[in-house]
Amino acid sequence: MSEIVIITGASRGIGAATARLLGAKGFSVVVNYSNSEAAAQEVVADVERSGGRAIAVKGDVGTEADVVHLFEETKRVFGTPTGLVNNAGIVGSRKRRIEDMDVATMTEVMRINVIGSMVCAREAIRRMSTQLGGPGGSIVNLSSVAARLGGAGQYVDYAASKGAIESFTIGLARELAADGIRVNAVRPGIIDTDIHASGGQPRRAHELAPQIPMQRPGTAEEVAQAVLWLLGEQSSYSTGGIIEATGGR
Ligand code: NAP
Repeated sequence: MSEIVIITGASRGIGAATARLLGAKGFSVVVNYSNSEAAAQEVVADVERSGGRAIAVKGDVGTEADVVHLFEETKRVFGTPTGLVNNAGIVGSRKRRIEDMDVATMTEVMRINVIGSMVCAREAIRRMSTQLGGPGGSIVNLSSVAARLGGAGQYVDYAASKGAIESFTIGLARELAADGIRVNAVRPGIIDTDIHASGGQPRRAHELAPQIPMQRPGTAEEVAQAVLWLLGEQSSYSTGGIIEATGGR
């Protein structure tokens, strides 16, 4: 089976590292992004330099029409997808406590992190399910250690969105076990990417290092290795699982 994988939010960070790794391993990779076109095209060029195949497709995962377009473009260029990495995610604006949070930001966090992942999964399943004539496949969702720790004093809205992703992973895995589709999640800890700057704390990953048992933030490449394992045949009997990549946190 040729492996065709859609990675949402792959213009930088964990998504970009996953695209580069999968591309080098021979997957055909769809690099989704919402704004950063030049960065997405660089990821495509990196995959091609390593001998892989990739395209960049613009689209907001929280907008249904964009998601449908993402899947149609994938089909047009590469064929029916066999993998989906629900990676696109935002932290919203960091506020100390919930009484300072506004509904617009809470709604945006849920729209992109939760609804976006659910709609992408729905479109994947419509094409991949063996019960619907598809080839089967594998879905990997990006959770966060925040789902387990709760994000108190910083990001309770973000943490709640990742708690939803973990419940969704477990339920969907059971729902799709007879459809030839496995569903798993990776739960990263503090990873050194731009997401912290977007939440207003560019040095957060290094400032929190002393609180991490391994005394350092993780890299996007380390998370990508866990995604690769869950996507591929090596994990053929794993579904509904959540892999920790937290340095022991
Ligand atoms: P990042 O560096 O901020 O990158 C986010 C990516 O998502 C970018 O490529 C961005 O592209 C894209 N994106 C944002 N909104 C989008 C939307 N509406 N539709 C499509 N793409 C969108 O983030 P990251 O640190 O790599 O995080 C990736 C995932 O891992 C997220 O789900 C995050 O919650 C999770 N995670 C990260 C950490 C960490 O410490 N970094 C820890 C735990 C979990 P554009 O610029 O084009 O919008």
